[in-house]
Amino acid sequence: MHTPLTPYRSFVMAAALSAALASGQAEPAARLADYQALAAKSKQHLELPTYPVTADEVRAQADKAIKRADAELAALAAQDPAKLNFSNTFAAFDAITAKVTDAYLVIGTVAESAIDKDMRDAANEMSVKLQEWGVGLDYRDDLYRALKKVADAKPQLDAEEQRNLNEQMRTYRRAGLALPPAERANVERLRKDLAALNTQFAVNINEARAPMDFTAEELAGMPQSFLDSPGIRQPDGCYRVMVNVTWQYIAVEENADSADVRHRVMVTRYRLAREANLPVLSKLVALRADIAQRLGYKNWADYQTETRMAKNGATALKFEEDLVAGLQPKYAAEVETLRQLKAKAIGQPDAKLERWDVRYYTNKLKKEKYNVDAEALRVYFPYQATLEGMFAIYQKIFGLKFVAIEPPYVWAPGVQLYVVLDAKSSVPMGAFYLDMFPREGKFNHFACFPQKSGGWMKDGEYDLPVETLLCNFPAPSADKPSLLKHSDVETLFHEFGHVMHGIMSRSKFVAQAGFNVPQDFVEAPSQMLENWVWDKKVLDTFAADYRDPTKKIPAETIDALVAARQATEGWFERRQLSIGLLDLGLHTLSADDAWLADVAKVTNDAIARVTIAAPEDTFWAGYIGHLAGYDAAYYGYLWAKVMAIDMASVFKAAPDGFLDANVGMRLRNEVYGKGNTRDVGESVEKFLSRPRSQEPFLEYVGIKKH
Ligand SMILES: [Zn+2]
Repeated sequence: MHTPLTPYRSFVMAAALSAALASGQAEPAARLADYQALAAKSKQHLELPTYPVTADEVRAQADKAIKRADAELAALAAQDPAKLNFSNTFAAFDAITAKVTDAYLVIGTVAESAIDKDMRDAANEMSVKLQEWGVGLDYRDDLYRALKKVADAKPQLDAEEQRNLNEQMRTYRRAGLALPPAERANVERLRKDLAALNTQFAVNINEARAPMDFTAEELAGMPQSFLDSPGIRQPDGCYRVMVNVTWQYIAVEENADSADVRHRVMVTRYRLAREANLPVLSKLVALRADIAQRLGYKNWADYQTETRMAKNGATALKFEEDLVAGLQPKYAAEVETLRQLKAKAIGQPDAKLERWDVRYYTNKLKKEKYNVDAEALRVYFPYQATLEGMFAIYQKIFGLKFVAIEPPYVWAPGVQLYVVLDAKSSVPMGAFYLDMFPREGKFNHFACFPQKSGGWMKDGEYDLPVETLLCNFPAPSADKPSLLKHSDVETLFHEFGHVMHGIMSRSKFVAQAGFNVPQDFVEAPSQMLENWVWDKKVLDTFAADYRDPTKKIPAETIDALVAARQATEGWFERRQLSIGLLDLGLHTLSADDAWLADVAKVTNDAIARVTIAAPEDTFWAGYIGHLAGYDAAYYGYLWAKVMAIDMASVFKAAPDGFLDANVGMRLRNEVYGKGNTRDVGESVEKFLSRPRSQEPFLEYVGIKKH
């Protein structure tokens, strides 16, 4: 059963379509069949996924994928041990599991995009089922034994095959399959305890509530819109702030004139879930260290980073410490600027800046000195022109051509389909769908959803990848096109970067293709492309006032945007580092130390060393959800960002800047195209033509080169 679109939504979608048609897309879209024929000529296979159209079909499609893979894997494991070779074990395993992954990708997209709620519910249910099937795969002893037999024989393999074999055996080793049976059972039991504690930690955070009531005088400085927000004003005339609700907490920290109120609110925030999570985190840290040691690692950070670019905890730690030092001059200058603002405001020249002053004076600084009207910039970014502008840039730098195709099927009105060709040879490389405006029940952020990983087929043809963008840009109205914020444009460049990454990657094995790169790298190619929208030359290629396209964004406005971003970037990054370092501090403890660790002290010390101390007798770490699920991984945000800016700096220095096609082609060939078929660190340095560096990042933050 399909939920009918409400009249408003259908109007919006129709408006979006007509806006698209009115702006040069009126030519009839090309036929998919023509490009399928073109693909076939060059031994490529251009086929779109099959989308289920009812809830029953969702379930049937998932069940069929699992049933088929189970039968094929059973046959793989049952082969005559004397006849096992790389091709009938590792390569076959990759091909069989890739089909389940593809089913999972399609069903995951249905869960986030189908109009029919029953379909979304069925898709969510089946996503969980497919995920669980995937986890169970790592623990299947029959498959492990078949693959291990081939690995032990050390067959002659090429580099990609060897990498696939190494990574697959590593997965088994990390799951404990290489351990003697009794010890394997112990690790399995400890892992179950770990999973339960991780869940408990997250539940304690989700359930923490902290209402605080204030008088109107106490909340002096708060915007009227805050005081008028639903739930704030109480019948007794008080104002209630839910300190666990992040936007309310931040609003108070940014606006309340009373330092005492900001202090009390921060103390409350930093004590959320403290009683419950202090013992849980202590146990988690000890348990992780214990599991790591049983699996042969020095500590949990070594275990977690083994599959990432950092490769070990010490490297991640050194990366963070180097940044702490590199950021020091900028950080110190920013803190002094804020301190002076406070000194002036309270009339005490030697005033000390406290942690609960930072957001308040940052807000003042931004309002007084770096006031850029984000709303006024929207006129330069009508959706369609921005999309086409971005298309033109990516086509130029990566040597590609995008062709709009008449889609054989769409899951909602307004969804568009494109085929990507290599510009020089016209050989198809993949396809992507765009689903760009909000509607009821749809995923409510911005993200790239891969639909099909692509990869070699038995007959030697390459099955081309397909991607989807699910976004929520402001819908156009009857008299106005959809106008984007500058931050929306940055998001568009970022998310479409993932589409490019997925489509350009080529790998013998799906396990090493596309987004199957180390977790501390996967965001870097997209983060790199965010830099494009801060460059006047790039923006001038498409950004123009929709009412008068001869008007471009003034250079001073772009400079002001950069200055506003940089004004407190040092603080922001040091805050990130404080979380990264408290995380690594806990997870580089050896098993013995971990059992005794005072986790409140370890984490509070890291905060005080790298930023401004948290209020006394608080335990912020107990409210940092990343510590259960993203443990020993928080450094990855900055790791990827620093690398992204390092890569962007090569464009910046190129003759044609961010539009340089030579640098773009090198990026396509050395980084995007390679996926995880070789060490990603090597790929990045081949592109850079030099070792990686933190210098471009420090420059981005506003530290001049020395
Ligand atoms: Zn991303």
